[in-house]
Amino acid sequence: MYVNPGNVFMVVAPSGAGKSSLVKALLAQDPSIELSISCTTRAPRPGEEDGREYRFVSTDEFKQMREAQNLLEWAEVHGNFYGTPRDRIDNATREGRDVLLEIDWQGARQVKQRFPGAIGIFVLPPSIEELESRLKARGQDAPQVIARRLMAAGGEIAHAPECEYVIINQEFSVALSELIQIVSAARLRFSSQAARHAQLFSQLGIPAEH
Ligand code: GDP
Ligand code: ADP
Ligand code: 5GP
Repeated sequence: MYVNPGNVFMVVAPSGAGKSSLVKALLAQDPSIELSISCTTRAPRPGEEDGREYRFVSTDEFKQMREAQNLLEWAEVHGNFYGTPRDRIDNATREGRDVLLEIDWQGARQVKQRFPGAIGIFVLPPSIEELESRLKARGQDAPQVIARRLMAAGGEIAHAPECEYVIINQEFSVALSELIQIVSAARLRFSSQAARHAQLFSQLGIPAEH
């Protein structure tokens, strides 16, 4: 039996590097990847919708979820709690579907403990100056929130070596095509191919992985 565990992709980046934009563009091209919707205690930004970008919850609700073991991982980031609901990831991987998480480095570490094959993709800005100008241009966070995120960027970037892949998001279209290539490469790994083409592999007498 060839088993397809489904890929777990984790996109990690300092705030403003472009991870949400890249992920949105990837999913527009490849709707077969399931996006994990995190819970957060942060207030919604203008235009954000509950259940689409995040599930926006109170601190009490968050703590309840955490205590009920409903979160695969959680972390405090920039003064708010963020966490990944467990159900969706467990179901998707069990059923062989690919899932993508947009999480910070602390969360990525925890997910790796549960799913050692999870693939970390770190998105870097081309420079700190550019990161600052993107955060300002996005125009969705108060100046003190932007300052806090910029202060935290160096600490987040220091964890880039924990990821398997790195994308430098200078030219958006180049960065997007690199993200698509990483997803393609993951799907061409033996375990994925064997599960997708089980009949052919069996006809060709290829043994299952040990
Ligand atoms: P952005 O970085 O500008 O997209 O701002 P967000 O407010 O969307 O995210 C803030 C931080 O929380 C980022 O470092 C995210 O990667 C992280 N984050 C988002 N969702 C989760 C989650 O479910 N779990 C963890 N551990 N971190 C999360
Ligand atoms: P994150 O999710 O990492 O916080 P966003 O996806 O919100 O980042 O991107 C931050 C801002 O930078 C957004 O306004 C976005 O449109 C812009 N942006 C993203 N990638 C690029 C790029 N390659 N060149 C210029 N601007 C970009
Ligand atoms: P923002 O508040 O700008 O949406 O997100 C700020 C940071 O929180 C980002 O770096 C993002 O990756 C992180 N983040 C969002 N959701 C989660 C999550 O579920 N878990 C963890 N660990 N980090 C998250």
